[in-house]
Amino acid sequence: MTLFENDPRFTPSRDHIIAVSVPVPLRQNFDFLVPDEIRFKPTVGARVKVPFGNRKLIGTIQEIKSSSDFDEKKLKKAISIIDDQSLFEAPLWNTLHWLTRYYLAPIGEVMDSAMPVALRQGINSEPASKQSWVLTDHGRSASMDELNRAPLQLAIIERFMRNSPLTANDFKATASSWRQAIGALTKKGWVKQTTNKPTLPKRDFTPPRELTLTGQQQAAVTSLEVSLAAQKFSCTLLHGVTGSGKTEVYFSAMELVLNAQQQVLLLVPEIGLTPQLIDRVEKRFNHAVVVMHSALNDNERHAAWWHASQGSARIVIGTRSAVFSSFKNLGLIIIDEEHDASFKQQDGIRYQARDVAIYRAKQHNVPIILGSATPSLETYLNAKNGRFTLLSLSERATKVNLPKIQLIDLNVQPTNDGLSPAMLEAIKETLTRGKQVILFLNRRGYAPVLYCKDCKQAAKCHRCDSYLTLHRRANRLRCHHCGFEGQIQSNCGHCKSTEMVDVGEGTQRVEDALLLRFPQATVLRIDRDSTRRKGELAHVLEKARSGEADILIGTQLITKGHDFPDVGMVGILEADQGLYSTDFRASESLFQQILQVSGRAGRRDDIGHVFIQTRFPDNPFFDKITSHDFNGFADDLLLQRQAAQFPPYGFFALLRCESVHQSKSLQFLRKAKQDMMPREGVWIMDAIPAPMERRAGKYRTQLLLCSNQRSALNNTLAEWLYFTATNSEAKKQANAVRWSLDIDPQDHF
Ligand code: ADP
Ligand code: ZN
Ligand code: ZN
Repeated sequence: MTLFENDPRFTPSRDHIIAVSVPVPLRQNFDFLVPDEIRFKPTVGARVKVPFGNRKLIGTIQEIKSSSDFDEKKLKKAISIIDDQSLFEAPLWNTLHWLTRYYLAPIGEVMDSAMPVALRQGINSEPASKQSWVLTDHGRSASMDELNRAPLQLAIIERFMRNSPLTANDFKATASSWRQAIGALTKKGWVKQTTNKPTLPKRDFTPPRELTLTGQQQAAVTSLEVSLAAQKFSCTLLHGVTGSGKTEVYFSAMELVLNAQQQVLLLVPEIGLTPQLIDRVEKRFNHAVVVMHSALNDNERHAAWWHASQGSARIVIGTRSAVFSSFKNLGLIIIDEEHDASFKQQDGIRYQARDVAIYRAKQHNVPIILGSATPSLETYLNAKNGRFTLLSLSERATKVNLPKIQLIDLNVQPTNDGLSPAMLEAIKETLTRGKQVILFLNRRGYAPVLYCKDCKQAAKCHRCDSYLTLHRRANRLRCHHCGFEGQIQSNCGHCKSTEMVDVGEGTQRVEDALLLRFPQATVLRIDRDSTRRKGELAHVLEKARSGEADILIGTQLITKGHDFPDVGMVGILEADQGLYSTDFRASESLFQQILQVSGRAGRRDDIGHVFIQTRFPDNPFFDKITSHDFNGFADDLLLQRQAAQFPPYGFFALLRCESVHQSKSLQFLRKAKQDMMPREGVWIMDAIPAPMERRAGKYRTQLLLCSNQRSALNNTLAEWLYFTATNSEAKKQANAVRWSLDIDPQDHF
């Protein structure tokens, strides 16, 4: 007999089968019988524990039904139903199902990615209540003389006088007998135990000084007010040059939504790089904020998820995966630096968080704002053809003009350790003015190649098709692709010659050169090597901001939205690699990087200067850069993309494969191409080795599919996936290699 036999909404004799998604890489649900003894009536979206092979898995109920396509006598019983209601609100549920179809992803894995780890393990959706103790009225008025001979109890009572309630955590540093002391005080009736629902900490809040918005900011806010008042879906590109005060525009929009008792989701590229933004949000709004990022532990993540889903967290700030948070009353989504590559997940389910967020905003019927100084071409095109509303901020908020960008021709100015005489002169001049210098070089380590003068061979990674990078600080050779690390050999591995030279510059070599040339200056290197340990990045950025450092040399970590106060110049040491790359997106991201890092210069009073070292000063690319002409650049690029039917005009999907056997990897993709039945308008290229074929000992290959119709591409792949899952020969081949499907791939490596 089930507990819900009399519940009219659930008739066990009829609806006795549940279709369940489980976290396995299979694109299907599995049917189970509802167990006899259940605590909760089955509900779509609730978690359920099921037997799967010889394991027990936590899955999600996808459907409740009265019959199965399988022999019912062979169906297994689910073990238990964990939740009494769905963990996913309806708009989120719809978004996850859209994502599953659009990215052709395994449903159980999609569901899992939308849950904090704690929930994937099956624990209660409400975080455990915290045990704590409070001082009673009796305890408050009691005479402390009684405790003269119990110093620990006295000390504890004194703590309660200052602070109540206290939790076990608060006594971590106290003598281990504190539990006994509390027990004695409880007996006396001076303190008592309570359990608290999880709460968000209170912050000290002082209302901020109000800024007067600039005319352009005000115009943008007025337009957003209209969208927000309409209380329906709209997508706005806030295209504002660096320093134009986009954040203030976000804040004005957020204020309206928060005043209407709704929640805001703010997606950012990388939490470590945006401590200022979080700080600014917390200073501006007297509302509970939760921040979701990779450094949270499982409990913290669970708590953050809970507060968002209950509506107690009014502002949710997070990276890519925060797009899957559950909300009670979402009113607005904002994506800051929407062009940033980190919004695309590069493994597992390869979703683009920006696209997911737009779909989700539609489901909630709320506005979404995409902000950037250098929008992605996809977004730019949508704004251009009117699918998105375009709001432009063409002037800086602080009345300082955009920096002056100049080129240094490396054909007449040879470099030493990556620095040309003109660049050195500019650095010197900037330091004399007491301003900060930022140098951008997107290559960490000391030298990218260790080369033998005699046999002309370079030290290579034995697991990858790549050279080893020389790291002087650690005195090691490292592979930046697989993590291999080895000793620096003084002899050539091929001919045993001792004539080994390090060629090219990484950030470490430039740092050394700067220390030598500018002994008085404080040089700070910002790259993954100098910020590897926890907290180091925040520390280094703080040092940069405080003005303690005179020269910052760094990789793309320094190009992101930092607001360093006193940068007089920015030097770009190497721009040419992106100009002639085989990756069709390289010039787009180079343009974005240069304008972003240039935007760090001259944000307060004096105009900033930017110097770019290049061997190709006549490349038209640089005309657009020096005139800050993002639109002109983007329009040109769109014409090229349109002619080639590349994204955002054509749509790509990439089937990637890897195997320790070179032939197997290619064979699988060749067979895949044979098995595919392309719909009209779908082109399937030939299977080819990846640009870097061998990586971490595996041979990597790829098969590119293109179409100017998303649905044709999607159908072709869906059919192939079905065939591969059901045809025994195809299945065998697919299981012999590792493969993955990437819809709208961001890179082709
Ligand atoms: P963006 O994100 O567009 O690059 P920010 O929002 O970081 O720009 O703003 C750049 C700087 O301009 C910040 O220091 C900010 O405090 C300042 N600012 C923004 N709006 C105004 C305004 N209306 N008046 C004065 N200063 C402003
Ligand atoms: Zn040699
Ligand atoms: Zn390697």
